Amino acid sequence: MFKKLKQFITSSMRMSHIYQPVMLIELLRSKNGSATDEHIAKKILGYDKSQIEYYTEIVEKMPGTVLTKNRGITELVDGKYFLKGYQYLSQEQITELIELCRLKIRSFEEKRKGAHWDHRKKGRKPISGSIRYQVLKRAKFKCELCGISASEKALEVDHIVPKNLGGKDDISNYQALCYTCNSQKRDTDNEDFRNLEKVYEEREAGCIFCEIESSRIINENTLAYATRDKYPVAEGHTLIIPKRHVKDYFGLFQAEINAINALVIEEKEKLGKDTSIEGFNIGVNCGEVAGQTVFHCHVHLIPRRKGDVKNPRGGVRHVISGKGDYKMQDLL
Ligand code: 5GP
Ligand code: ZN
Repeated sequence: MFKKLKQFITSSMRMSHIYQPVMLIELLRSKNGSATDEHIAKKILGYDKSQIEYYTEIVEKMPGTVLTKNRGITELVDGKYFLKGYQYLSQEQITELIELCRLKIRSFEEKRKGAHWDHRKKGRKPISGSIRYQVLKRAKFKCELCGISASEKALEVDHIVPKNLGGKDDISNYQALCYTCNSQKRDTDNEDFRNLEKVYEEREAGCIFCEIESSRIINENTLAYATRDKYPVAEGHTLIIPKRHVKDYFGLFQAEINAINALVIEEKEKLGKDTSIEGFNIGVNCGEVAGQTVFHCHVHLIPRRKGDVKNPRGGVRHVISGKGDYKMQDLL
């Protein structure tokens, strides 16, 4: 048997994760070569650095702070927590205190009926593998809030506007967040994260792009919409606008940039069917000195046709008049 197992472990075990050797260790370490799935699952959890990091952060922020700073029951020295006066406790007293803590845990769990773990449950509805992959790819395998790479922290794919608040299943309503940003979004008292979903709902009274008539919207996703410019510089001149009232491009969240970009591409594809359109300018005016007149961010998508201006060389460089064509400047 030993030979067979040794041969399996050293040569024939095909691993897609660490699960098999962890399970074998637990079976080998047990008294009679058996272990429950729950026991094995707990041991696997012990190898999951993302989980350990998550709970290390919880320890520091929650019981570590409460017991040390607020209650003065523990002390923190060189990264280690010390129970004050531990040396004066007898073994029986320690046993009794442990039992009292266990009772507290049990009664809390009975009262909450497990609801205190809801925030750790994965999305209410499983997200398909292909959507997950598309979202992660679009996010370039980086957290869309803090930017950390998927190789450093596990990324979770989640709805931006939850389904129960009317959020849709289209890809623009998903974002990739590292487990820290995602858990903070849901279960810490950090208002910024918790209100992120609400933030996308911000509208300003009197703003033409906040109060646009729905009949003027030609395309939309969860966070942005497209409309034709009322005073087009060319036929098909389109504006892509975040639904949230935000002054300019620099105030956008990554998820909104994604949503806007998706519409820029979709509208470009549609306009491209008009064979007279052979090129595009994409532009955003940020600030009055840069020519912005409506202070709700919008991206201009301007179709270009051969001969629409005398000398198109330089394109967006023409925002500074006379400087568009840099070759012309050489001649001056
Ligand atoms: P900005 O100068 O701020 O970059 O661009 C404002 C754009 O909004 C202009 O291109 C202007 O033609 C367009 N615009 C102004 N009022 C309206 C409106 O009521 N509806 C739409 N769809 N576009 C507008
Ligand atoms: Zn607005």
